[in-house]
Amino acid sequence: MTRYRLDFKTREKIASYAGPTFSRCYQCGTCTAVCLLPRTIPVRRVLRKAQLGIPEIDQQVWKCVSCKYCDTSCPRGVEIASVMRGLKAMLYEEKKAPAQLNEVLWRVYEEGNPLGEPRTQRAAWLQGIELPANPGEGGVLLYTCCLAAYDKRLQNTLRSLVEILKKAGVPVTVMRDAETCCGDVIYHIGEEYFLEELAQGNVEAMEKLKPTAIVTVSPHSYNMLKHVYPRLGAKPPAPVMHHVQLLAELINDGRLKPGRLEATVTYHDPCYLGRWNNIYEEPRTVLESIEGLKLVEMEHTKSRSLCCGGGGGSIWSENMEARSITRRRLDEARSTEASAMATACPYCIRMFEDEAKVARVDLQFPDVVELLSRSLRG
Ligand code: SF4
Ligand code: SF4
Repeated sequence: MTRYRLDFKTREKIASYAGPTFSRCYQCGTCTAVCLLPRTIPVRRVLRKAQLGIPEIDQQVWKCVSCKYCDTSCPRGVEIASVMRGLKAMLYEEKKAPAQLNEVLWRVYEEGNPLGEPRTQRAAWLQGIELPANPGEGGVLLYTCCLAAYDKRLQNTLRSLVEILKKAGVPVTVMRDAETCCGDVIYHIGEEYFLEELAQGNVEAMEKLKPTAIVTVSPHSYNMLKHVYPRLGAKPPAPVMHHVQLLAELINDGRLKPGRLEATVTYHDPCYLGRWNNIYEEPRTVLESIEGLKLVEMEHTKSRSLCCGGGGGSIWSENMEARSITRRRLDEARSTEASAMATACPYCIRMFEDEAKVARVDLQFPDVVELLSRSLRG
């Protein structure tokens, strides 16, 4: 029988990362039953050890994809995904982070992005696009996300967004190579000091452009800029929006008139847009405003949506177990009549496209903004 030490300091530390809700857990086990990785993460046991202040943390917490699916089922309102993140941060402090994540951390140190691509190439996606250096009053600042800025396929989401905003008469600017990773992966590793420095640097670069709004293409960047940066004392200088919010606003105000596109599409709610930020209607507003587009829902949708398997740092590490989550979502999409599963997150698109190739799934994975752009061209 394993003998454990109890340590109140461990409890205090977890509470400093995740708040006090874990003390409400009454060990019903629902989280373990609903976890999208049920045979991988012993969720209930992890919570019990946290409550008791047992300092030996299960390494399996690194497998948590931060989807918050368990949170929505917990009858006691425990913020389970936040506890998991806190435990990862504590393991990182003990130098027990997976090697791939340590490498990612170094790449962000050196080049400002988790891919290790040259910082000087961050704005290469802008080639051929005319943008003012600073649009001044009324301009929105497009915060690009590392994956969208460097991944050739995902650069199309940025180009589509800029093209649409120009059409709607919205002045737009970008930070070019002054922009650094939003720090989502660092947040999940738990390197708090570096994260503070990085957030401060991004906010200072934003301030120079005096934007009236900051628009992100990634729900992860949205969550970092909107919620985490202010907690670190680095408040962005303008309201933060995800692009689906801006597009829905432009459509509702009549400043943007979508075109026509004949397609049957299902929509995947990214965890960091949906469960983490309650943004469910705006992407559907955009899709439903496209003439000829038929939106069909999957079995799990909105707050009960499944996950792509890429959150919590998993997209940057070899979290092989998380591939079962990606596969499950692909199967759900396939069981609808849709020929495309739209989403609004670069991580989701990358995860689905990669897994679809392996599983030979014949589906497309456009961003909502790409479908809108196609409708305007067609
Ligand atoms: S579902 Fe909530 S109350 Fe039940 S074991 Fe999990 S954390 Fe505890
Ligand atoms: S956040 Fe997702 S992966 Fe993590 S414990 Fe909850 S359901 Fe499981």
